[in-house]
This record gives sequence, structure tokens and C-alpha cells, in this order.
Amino acid sequence: LSDRLTATFANLRSKGRLSESDVNKTVRDIRLALLDADVALPVVRSFTHNVRERALGAEVSEALNPAQQVVKIVNEELVGILGGQTRGIRFAKQPPTVIMLAGLQGSGKTTLAGKLAYWLKEQGHTPMLVAADLQRPNAVTQLEVVGQRAGVPVFAPERGNVSGHDAVGGDIEGTRSHGDPVAVSRSGIAEAAAKQHDVVIVDTAGRLAVDENLMRQAADIREAIRPDEVLFVIDAMIGQAAVETAEAFLEGVDFSGVVLSKLDGDARGGAALSVASVTGRPIMFASTGENTKDFEVFHPDRMASRILDMGDVLTLIEQAERAFDRTQAAEMERKFLAAEDFTFDDFLQQMAAIKKMGSLKSVLGMMPGMGQMKAQLDAFDEREFDRVEAMVRSMTPFERNHPKQINGSRRARIAKGSGVSTSEVNQLLERFGEAQKMMKQLAKGGGIPGMPGMPG
Ligand code: GDP
Ligand code: MG
Repeated sequence: LSDRLTATFANLRSKGRLSESDVNKTVRDIRLALLDADVALPVVRSFTHNVRERALGAEVSEALNPAQQVVKIVNEELVGILGGQTRGIRFAKQPPTVIMLAGLQGSGKTTLAGKLAYWLKEQGHTPMLVAADLQRPNAVTQLEVVGQRAGVPVFAPERGNVSGHDAVGGDIEGTRSHGDPVAVSRSGIAEAAAKQHDVVIVDTAGRLAVDENLMRQAADIREAIRPDEVLFVIDAMIGQAAVETAEAFLEGVDFSGVVLSKLDGDARGGAALSVASVTGRPIMFASTGENTKDFEVFHPDRMASRILDMGDVLTLIEQAERAFDRTQAAEMERKFLAAEDFTFDDFLQQMAAIKKMGSLKSVLGMMPGMGQMKAQLDAFDEREFDRVEAMVRSMTPFERNHPKQINGSRRARIAKGSGVSTSEVNQLLERFGEAQKMMKQLAKGGGIPGMPGMPG
């Protein structure tokens, strides 16, 4: 999506004034880009209609150049599609707050349960997970593993009731159910209340396709436990089926918020983005990998800038803050805003933080400009990182802070010290120089200025 839009905006940037035909062409490009990204047709229609009206209408400002005007309008409309404001969890006045997860099988509910619990725990909550997926033999065990990783307790039905704990293997998905998920959910919540857990996350069963029994079961659970939030988890890679699936769950179970999962994949994501618009329910969280920490609060404005390829500096800083200590993050932010040179020492600190943050690709994907480098990103070999780290570690402190002073003989020494060829060292220094330039430019408000979420 971003590649196309980037080209469109680059084209507009060279214009002095915005003519009707510029607007029409831009709207056509945006329409294609959205369709290409699997955004549902009705959403595309209303989106392009609004952009066109506004771009041609009274909003034409003397202060902004044409590209800025259109980007501003597109950005605002995208934020609108994505649900406007970020919405947080509505906690119950009387704990425990009950959060129920619903969605198709494989959408990422169980994985999300762990991520959400971990995230809540980090904020001082005391979550408990409840295993109410009794459909798949291994579902309970899977949730137990997830809970262990997140360091939160899991309420599971009596062992004897649950297949998958005994040695009988085999894939009997969906053929029969073991125990009563409604009863398990109820006991889980009672247990949580007794043990003073302030949040309960109820993991439920899914089917590969929308199916009446599944809907009834989820609706029964919902009816019985009256959750404060029902989160509908949807795989961002699902394509055009997203809207239909979301509508089925809205009707069959109803939900209060949406979680986009697998946003780290190749998903064009557009269909999932249609979901907020079509169902009128906000996207609250994004799941971006298989690790417990690959999880973000969903910010419509930031997602819009990410789609527009502004890079998501704010999310990046937020994630970095979680992994680094705060002073380090503040220093990085200060340097960034002051457009100071980024050094190899900063780079080493970031690498350490990135390793703590989880998947490297998910972090890189948020870096400004990376949308255009998607192919390289996909081909990225995480082991490459170790080689880079070895090179940086072979530099002296002076060299790390003054990369431009690294001359030929220093390069040869670094290559030797880290067991790579001199040309690899040359490449690293060259790329580093470019990255330094890019960060400076961004910090100064280069790229497209005046965008929300962009420093400068
Ligand atoms: P459930 O059936 O809805 O409970 O889905 P699971 O949580 O079991 O997830 C199904 C598969 O998707 C598992 O292999 C997960 O590891 C994987 N998965 C879940 N969330 C994500 C995500 O955000 N990114 C990626 N890459 N994989 C995910
Ligand atoms: Mg599951």
C-alpha cells in the first residue's frame, strides 16, 4: 500500500498548485492502492469520495503545498477509517474485569491471551487466563504454555475432563467437545474473584470457518459471563473475507473491540482495516509476531502514518522505552529531535534493545522509509545482525563515535578483528552514513513536513 502512495505523493510534491485533474488523478491512485491492499469496496468508495470532496472543496489552504494538503486530508480520512481515537480497555468498576476473546480458529486468540496478559501485568494488573477452548485437544495445554511464558496463572478445567492431557493424540478438531466451556468460564471467573485477580481473560474456541455451533457457544459464554470487553481477533492476512467474518461475529456474538493479529506478516492488511469501518467497532490492539512482547496498543493516527509510509517513530520510541531503561530512551529521543549524529555506540545500545523487543523485522518495519525497502526486509537474514555487531565491537570507542574518521587501515583492522572482509566493513560504514543522514533529515522535518506524529 505504502509504495504506491509514496510514488503518488512524490509526484504531487513537485506541483505548485493543485488542479482538479491533479486531485482526480491522486484520488484514482489512492483508490487503486486501497483496492490493491484488499480494502473493502464500500470503504474505498466512501474514502475516495471524502478525499475528493475535501481536496477540491474549501479546505484548500494557502499555507500548505499541494502534496501537504492531500496528505493531510488522506491522513485524516485514514485515521477516521481506522476508528479515530485510540480506545483503551474499559475496566470494570467492580473487579475482576472480564475480557472475552472471540474469532476464527488460528486467528491468534490464544497467542493474544498471553500477550495481553503480559502487557496488563506490566501495568500493574494481576490477570488470570481461563481456558474455555475445549474444542481442540491441545488448546488447554497451549494456553498453559502461553500463560507460563507470560508469567500469569491459567485456570483450566479438571485435567480428567480434557483430552490432550492424556496420551490419546490425533487430530479430532471440531469433532467433539470436552467439558462445558460455559461452566469453565464461570468457575474461572469465580476463582479469579476469590484470588483477587483484577482482570480475567477468557480464551474461547474457534472454527476454521464461521459456523453456527461456534457462534452459539461463544454467544452462550458471553451471555453467562457478561464480559466487560469482547475482543474480536482477526488475522490481518485474511484478505477480503475479513468483512464477512467480522459481520458474522458481530451478529452472532457481538464484540466491543477488534484486535488485528499477524500484522508482522505480508498482510496487505487492507481488509482488516475495513473491519473497523464496517462494524463500527474500534481496533484496540495489534499483534505483530509470535513472541509475548510482539503486541501494541493500536493508534489509528500512527497506523495511518505508517500506511502513508511516514514511519512510526512514536510506536518505535514507545517500544524502545519498554526494552531500554528510560534514560537511555530519553537520550535517543533527544538526539533524534536535536538531529545529532547517531553513533555506533547508540547503534549497539539499540541492537541490544531490539533483541529484547522481540522480532527484529517487526521493529525494522516501523522505521521510517522501510516501507519502500520491504523486499530487502523480507530477504533480511537475522544472522546478518551478528556480523554487524561483531564489526561494531571490533571498533575502538573513538571509532564508534566518529565513524567518518574510520580510514582504510582502520577498516582493515576492523575486518580482521571481526572475521569479515574489508568490503563488508566498507558497506556497513556506507549504509551507516546514509542512515545518519536519513535520521537527520527526518528529525528536521524533511520527508513530508507538518504531519502529526512526526517530530520537527
Ligand atoms: P487461535 O486458534 O485463535 O487461538 O490462534 P493461535 O493463538 O493458536 O495462533 C495460531 C497461529 O498463529 C500460531 O501458530 C501462532 O503462533 C500464530 N500467531 C498468532 N499471532 C501471531 C502474530 O501476531 N504474528 C505471527 N507471525 N503469528 C502469529
Ligand atoms: Mg486458541
